[in-house]
Amino acid sequence: MVKNLLGYDFNIFHTELSPFVDKSFHIKQIYQWVYKKRVLNINNFTNLSKELRKKVAGQFSFSILNVLSEEVSSEDGSRKYLLELEDGKKIETVFIPQKDRISICLSSQVGCKFGCKFCVTGLMGFHRNLEYYEIVSQLITVLVINKERLKNRINLVFMGMGEPLDNYENVKRAIKVITDSEGISISPKRITVSTIGIISYLKRFLEELPDVKLAFSLNSPFPSVRKELMPVEKRYPFAENMKILRRERKKLKHRVTFEYIMLKGVNDRLKDAKEILTITKGIPRKINLIPFNYFEGSELYPTEMDKIDKFAGYLRKYRVVVTIRDSKGKDIKASCGNLFAKLERGHEIMEIKNKD
Ligand code: SF4
Repeated sequence: MVKNLLGYDFNIFHTELSPFVDKSFHIKQIYQWVYKKRVLNINNFTNLSKELRKKVAGQFSFSILNVLSEEVSSEDGSRKYLLELEDGKKIETVFIPQKDRISICLSSQVGCKFGCKFCVTGLMGFHRNLEYYEIVSQLITVLVINKERLKNRINLVFMGMGEPLDNYENVKRAIKVITDSEGISISPKRITVSTIGIISYLKRFLEELPDVKLAFSLNSPFPSVRKELMPVEKRYPFAENMKILRRERKKLKHRVTFEYIMLKGVNDRLKDAKEILTITKGIPRKINLIPFNYFEGSELYPTEMDKIDKFAGYLRKYRVVVTIRDSKGKDIKASCGNLFAKLERGHEIMEIKNKD
């Protein structure tokens, strides 16, 4: 049976290919065709002899994930994909073209166990972790099918389905493959991992991936409110996470982005803004205010834009960097979990064919 090697790291390429490929520089060339040039058809590996290509193709393939659907935003060109893993499980990935960059939002788990109230993925429960090679394949799939659109530098954000620090080993190994200068070569500075704050892994993340940016999903500076929105607060209080970030502040290479979904009447009062300043004090910080994307069945509602502007204005008075996220792909509901939820509810989803 032909083994699909897409997504694996160089060591695995070496182990798997060496019984069939004598010279190790040929293995390196194969690795570079796949990850650097993103040419996945072995017949097109033109610096290998025909005989060697035939031998490799008899044993291996480099196949992208099955693309079950693609939804394109007519507002801003964001593209949302529902991708199928080998065991039939489904994940979502979003490709967001912007003026000066492209952002790709990656999933790290199938579903999620943390049940945040503002998140559709949270409603569907946890299915399993993604293996590191599935995370890499997810990225390569989106890069290959958007080949013509890769005109700007690429930023990656682990903000899709799942909590990346709850699948830390696989996320870390995937980041190693993604940042390998012999391969995909995306700078770690262009990668952001977003977490709700899994304390033990936060410490490891700061030590082991110091160049990768951190986003912390805060959403309320009051433990009682955060507990309601994010049950994780009971087990991993944000205050503990703040202590770690404060302690490590000198080692941080980037500002921590505090993500804050603006929820009408829940966390958008002046006293919330004041408390955000207090609890994040001493940490190099940036606050990202995110308009809530309402979804069917949600008990939460979005704060009005003028109120978000006022909230931002208050924080800025204290010289804090504040951004207001421009909600992308509203018409395709680009926030994670929506496509999956749609499929689960039996809605019709446009099928598209995999491109070679
Ligand atoms: S916001 Fe993140 S951690 Fe919370 S339920 Fe959604 S995917 Fe899970």
